[in-house]
Amino acid sequence: MKVCKFGGTSMATAAAINRVKKIILSDKERRFVVVSAPGKRYSHDTKVTDLLYAAYAEKCEKGSCSNTMSAIRARFVELCADLGVKADINKYLDEVEKGINESTSADYAASRGEYLSAVVVSEVLGFEMVDAADVIKFKHDGTFDAELTNDLVARYANSEKGIVFPGFYGRMPDKSIKTFTRGGSDFTGAIIARGVAADVYENWTDVNGFMVTDPRLVDSPKGIEVLSYEELRELSYMGASVLHPDSIFPVQIDGIPINIRNTFDPDQPGTMILPSTEGYDTPCITGIAGRKGNTTISLKKAMMNGEIGFCRKVLSVLERHGLSVEHIPTGIDTMSIVLSDFQTKGIPEKKIIDDIRGAVNPDHIEISHSLALIAIVGHGMANTLGTAAKIFTALYNAGVNIRLIDQGSSELNIIVGVEEKDYALSIAAIYNAFFG
Ligand code: ADP
Ligand code: ASP
Ligand code: MG
Repeated sequence: MKVCKFGGTSMATAAAINRVKKIILSDKERRFVVVSAPGKRYSHDTKVTDLLYAAYAEKCEKGSCSNTMSAIRARFVELCADLGVKADINKYLDEVEKGINESTSADYAASRGEYLSAVVVSEVLGFEMVDAADVIKFKHDGTFDAELTNDLVARYANSEKGIVFPGFYGRMPDKSIKTFTRGGSDFTGAIIARGVAADVYENWTDVNGFMVTDPRLVDSPKGIEVLSYEELRELSYMGASVLHPDSIFPVQIDGIPINIRNTFDPDQPGTMILPSTEGYDTPCITGIAGRKGNTTISLKKAMMNGEIGFCRKVLSVLERHGLSVEHIPTGIDTMSIVLSDFQTKGIPEKKIIDDIRGAVNPDHIEISHSLALIAIVGHGMANTLGTAAKIFTALYNAGVNIRLIDQGSSELNIIVGVEEKDYALSIAAIYNAFFG
C-alpha cells in the first residue's frame, strides 16, 4: 500500500488537482494521501502559506486579517468553483478568518492552507478527511511526539476508505496548533507512511525526481535514479529543497522507500530513495547541493591546540545564546565556526564576540558574512581517488576562491565554502567537472 504526498504545485490549480485525482484513482494501492497548501500558479504568484503568514501579520498590526484574507478567499472560491466542489468553502473560510483574528501565534494561520486543501481534495477523491491535529502530536516542550503519533496513525492502517491528511501541522498538548518548519508536509507524509506501514512513500512534486543539482542553477541537470537515506539527508539538509531534510527519520525506522515523482509527468519513474544503494551502479558523486546565508566566526590563538577545553568554552558561549553550529573547521592555532544566518538573526553580534573573548581570550577574533556552503555528496567518493582534486581544480579554473573546506570522516561528503557571489558559478563548475 502506498502513501502519496502532493506538494504545493500539485494543489495550485483545478487542472493540477484533477491530475492528482487521476494518479490516485489509477492505482488501488494509493489509499493514503497527504496534501500541501496550494502553491504558486505562475512564477510571480504567492503561495497560500505565505498569504496566511501575511494574514497573521496583518492581524497583529491592525487587529484583523480581513484584507489578506480576501485574497486567500478568492483563491479557494475559484478553486472550488473550477472543481465543482459542493462543500460550503465560505463557511470554512469564515472559521479560518475568525481563528486567525483570535490566535496568538502564526502557526494556526500557517496551517490552514493544508487544512483547506484537504477539505477540497477529500471531496474530489471521495475519500475521508482526517485532521492532522487529531493524529500528529507534539510534546509539552514543542518537540514532535513520534511514538504517540505513530500509535494514533496506525489506527487508520486498515481503513477501507481512502484517507486525506493535511500536511505540515499537528497539535500541542494544550490543544493549540503547531507547524513543522517550512516544507514540512514532506515530513507529515513520511510520518503517515510509517504509521500505516506503507510499502512505499510516494512524494509527488513538479520535477522528474531528485536531480544531481538544483535545476534553477544548472540547465536540465542529470536525474538521480537511486539515492541512499544518508545521501538524501546530506543533500536536503544542505539545500536540495525537493524534500524536507527530516523526511527520512520516520521512514528509516522500517526501511520504507521514498519515490519522488512528477505530478505533471507521471510516467517517469522518478528517484528511489532506499536504505542503501549497495549493489547499484552509482556514480562517484551522487549530488551537489548548497545554500547561501552563513556566518563564520574565526578565532586565532597561539598554542590553541594545547589549551585543554578551548573548543568547549567557545561552544558553550554559543549554547548559551541558543545557537547550533553547522561546521567547525580547525587548524593548529585557528578555529572557525560556521553558523546559519537564520539562527543568528536577532542576536547582537558584538555580544557573541565579547562573550567568546571573555571565555577564551583569543589573539584575534572576527565575524564574516555571505558565506555559501556547497556539499558534494556520494558514497562512491570513499573508493575514488582524486575527487577532491577534481572539485578544487574546477573551482580554480572558474576563478573561485575557496574560503573553507570540510570533509567528514565517513567520506560521504566534501563541503566547500565560497563567497555568495560565486555560489551559482561554483555549483555549475563542479557539476560540469563530474557530469559535463
Ligand atoms: P513541493 O511543493 O512539491 O513540495 P518544492 O518546491 O518543495 O515542491 O520542491 C521541488 C523543487 O525543488 C523543484 O521545483 C526544484 O526547483 C527544487 N530543487 C532544488 N534542488 C533540487 C534537486 N536537486 N532536484 C530536483 N529539484 C530540486
Ligand atoms: N505549505 C507549507 C510551506 O509552504 C508546507 C509544505 O508545503 O510542505 O512551507
Ligand atoms: Mg516541498
